Amino acid sequence: MTTNPSLSIVTLMTLLMCLTPTLIKSQPGIHVLLPISLNLTVLTDPFSISAASRDFGNITDENPGAVLCPSSPAEVARLIRFASRDFSFDSESTSISPGFKVAARGQGHSLRGQASAPGGVVVNMTCLAKTAKPAAVVVSADGTYADAAAGAMWVEVLEAALERGVSPVSFTDYLYLSVGGTLSNAGIGGHVFRHGPQISNVHELDVITGKGHLVTCSPKLNPELFYGVLGGLGQFGIITRARIALDRAPTRVKWLRILYSDFSAFTRDQERLISMANDLRVDFLEGQLMMSNGIVDTSFFPLSDQTRVASLVNDHRIIYVLEVAKYYDTTTLPIIDQVIDRLTRTLGITSEFMFVQDVPYFDFLNRVRNEEDKLRSIGLWEVPHPWLNMFVPRSRILDFHEGVIKGLLLNQTATSGVTLFYPTNRNKWNNLMSAMIPNEDVFYVIGFLQSAGGSHNFEELENLNDRIINFCDNSGIKIKEYLMHYTRKEDWIKHFGPKWSDFSRRKMMFDPEKLLSPGQDIFN
Ligand code: FAD
Repeated sequence: MTTNPSLSIVTLMTLLMCLTPTLIKSQPGIHVLLPISLNLTVLTDPFSISAASRDFGNITDENPGAVLCPSSPAEVARLIRFASRDFSFDSESTSISPGFKVAARGQGHSLRGQASAPGGVVVNMTCLAKTAKPAAVVVSADGTYADAAAGAMWVEVLEAALERGVSPVSFTDYLYLSVGGTLSNAGIGGHVFRHGPQISNVHELDVITGKGHLVTCSPKLNPELFYGVLGGLGQFGIITRARIALDRAPTRVKWLRILYSDFSAFTRDQERLISMANDLRVDFLEGQLMMSNGIVDTSFFPLSDQTRVASLVNDHRIIYVLEVAKYYDTTTLPIIDQVIDRLTRTLGITSEFMFVQDVPYFDFLNRVRNEEDKLRSIGLWEVPHPWLNMFVPRSRILDFHEGVIKGLLLNQTATSGVTLFYPTNRNKWNNLMSAMIPNEDVFYVIGFLQSAGGSHNFEELENLNDRIINFCDNSGIKIKEYLMHYTRKEDWIKHFGPKWSDFSRRKMMFDPEKLLSPGQDIFN
């Protein structure tokens, strides 16, 4: 979120001694009262309010009363303590109306207002990253971990680590997401089958709870808070620091895309690859669909092959793209081609539709940035994004493919955006954490990353999402949605299933007044 402090900064405290309450008028009808003694600076100008009211999804618009751009975690703690009626000046200021909601906002890449705080205070976490001392990301002397401000983006963590020849092991596809934002969900991508989601690769967190207490937690120290917060949708506290696991960084990547016209062969090879444990094990695995009723992006393939690939999609209507990467460095350089050769032979595919790029490690991880630039240049980035992400149990993936991919998606006159389709391993997730996944050893990550705009009408895309969910419900396919937004409590209870009692108990422990992340609509 960009803010322009010069526009209108309301400084609530100039004199610590002065205890007179101050009224901040931010919006017609929305007043946030904070006492001067809080010593907090909030932004209420239209630009800051408007920036904090929207997100990447471009579907919701929820104005906060004010935006806090904190310069220290203590400021966030003070704000929450005040909101939770635990601030010592509370009793002296009877006209104050604490109880307003507070939402941390990282990069605001949520889809449906999850980082919003209607009428409350949005905490801009990037401010904390900018003022973090000595830096937003500090790599340990031995290079085994990095302490990152939660408002730092993953690309910053990666850059700081690479300077020391190390790297985090698990990444999202897009790196311009905040550490706190992805840890509040799970943080998934092509490394999950091997290393687990980002929430499985964190050693320790600093968290400000809904009571305004700053608590350090880890699997040994305050584990209830630690596991609750990871995948906890911002419900139990605001993460201010995360200690992220690092490992030796490779320098280059053999990046393969292999095309299949047969769904069973595609999933069989994907599943074989995620179960391998020998030297042929890949470092990254994903998959996506190319459909004749969508935009067939052939830019990955050599120019000379692009027409051939496009015709293949046209002929078959749907082509399954297996995407894998094998990392290497100067030590493994002499054998990498031989390894790739052996690897592809185990898949039993013909090389006719196998394409390899050889790219620097950073460029590989940062690949979605190019897509962003392309979409921005044609005005298709800041459009509504009714994305639907879900995890589908392996045992029902054939039914899902028949009913959803062939039955619904392929029957659309046109599809919009990318469809991700890849399996991952449950044993890389820790069930103590709040994140929810299907109850099977292998499950598929499916993402319908649709954009409205042009010929794609938002309502039509929403309607397709509803039909996909209904199909799964009616066919008894026990999916778990990811990055979901439910508005009915019963849907949240169903989502968390056996974990609901722990989730709500943790809410009572750490945020009893239900102040945090109201945009998730879980306890409102
Ligand atoms: P925000 O939208 O700012 O916040 C998300 C939620 O987390 C809110 O509820 C907010 O209150 C809470 N929150 C934010 N910071 C904190 C904090 N410090 N402490 C506690 N709670 C906090 N996800 C994946 O897993 N894998 C992907 O590959 C992937 N790719 C994406 C690509 C794009 C282009 C986009 C737009 C999103 C993608 N996502 C992906 C989804 C993304 O991980 C989530 O939307 C994530 O929440 C974004 O982080 P953010 O910093 O923008 O969070």
